[in-house]
Amino acid sequence: MSEYTTQILIIGSGPAGYTAALYASRSGLNPILVSGSQIGGQLTITTEIENFPGFAESITGPELMENMRKQAQKLGVTIVDDKITEVDFNKHPFVCTSENGNTFTAQTVIICTGSSARWLELPSEKKFIGFGVSACATCDGFFYRNRPVAVVGGGNSAAEEALYLTNFASKVYLIHRRDTMRADAVMQQRIQNNHKIQIIWNTVIEEVLGTENPLGVTGLKLKNVKDDTVSKLDVDGLFVAVGHHPNTDIFKEYLNLDANGYIITAPDSTATNIKGVFAAGDVQDPKFRQAIISAGTGAMAAMEAERYLTSLEKE
Ligand code: NDP
Repeated sequence: MSEYTTQILIIGSGPAGYTAALYASRSGLNPILVSGSQIGGQLTITTEIENFPGFAESITGPELMENMRKQAQKLGVTIVDDKITEVDFNKHPFVCTSENGNTFTAQTVIICTGSSARWLELPSEKKFIGFGVSACATCDGFFYRNRPVAVVGGGNSAAEEALYLTNFASKVYLIHRRDTMRADAVMQQRIQNNHKIQIIWNTVIEEVLGTENPLGVTGLKLKNVKDDTVSKLDVDGLFVAVGHHPNTDIFKEYLNLDANGYIITAPDSTATNIKGVFAAGDVQDPKFRQAIISAGTGAMAAMEAERYLTSLEKE
């Protein structure tokens, strides 16, 4: 158990967290980054990444995040592999405590705790994550050129993922557990007008089917919830779009959140409703959810935190 004191505490180790940390470190602010339990964040469960600029030969998610960590360390960031479990934003400096009993007292806090994709929670789904099962069509859709894929879900994310995938896939099956979608009417119209998309209503996925060596998806075992009939659907990939939940539980007592639990930041800014507390990355971005955008807002947060610290000195 240790007591840390810092000018900038960064919570989270995805692209937003590491970028905020290296910007803050280069400004001479000696930041501390607390990594959270999933070190490297959501990208560590993806395989190849082709849309993060700077990698002509592409890079895997775990490699990219390891590089970001090493870069932050090289620039002098103190990284503590621990999870913040409680914050007190009522007093300043802010106090955050961790799972391992560490205390962090900080002049500014940058929250980069991200969001987590919801999954179907099937054992077979877990087995193929990164090997045919994905929660991000923008990240992985490109690998399914001229191949059949399925999307599960009935909200705007599922609709967007299905439409995006028609740019690559030969056929996109949209599997939904009810007979109506909750996606916006305009999205539903687009889906229905797209000849590559076939909606499979009233259906749940019972199992993801695939091969062991090499590990890969070959199909889905489906069950119609109206008549209990079971069928097999041949697809090479499954995109799970059953929602995300932002990791904001420990902040909700202090920060303004939107209806879905995302932190609300000021327009064109990472500032939250508490002065000195900033939020970057997916935790405040229900719309784009991309690594490059998270990195960008991480840089913004570090610059805004630095300005805030300068304003404190002048007081
Ligand atoms: P939603 O919560 O809107 O939809 C989740 C979908 O997944 C629902 O259709 C739900 O079914 C289904 N579902 C949930 N759990 C399971 C399960 N275990 N098995 C099968 N299906 C399941 O999440 P989204 O990510 O789509 O959207 C989140 C928010 O972000 C929404 O407010 C949305 O409008 C917004 N958004 C906006 C976009 C835009 O404006 N461009 C793009 C993407 C999202 P059921 O309907 O039966 O509950």
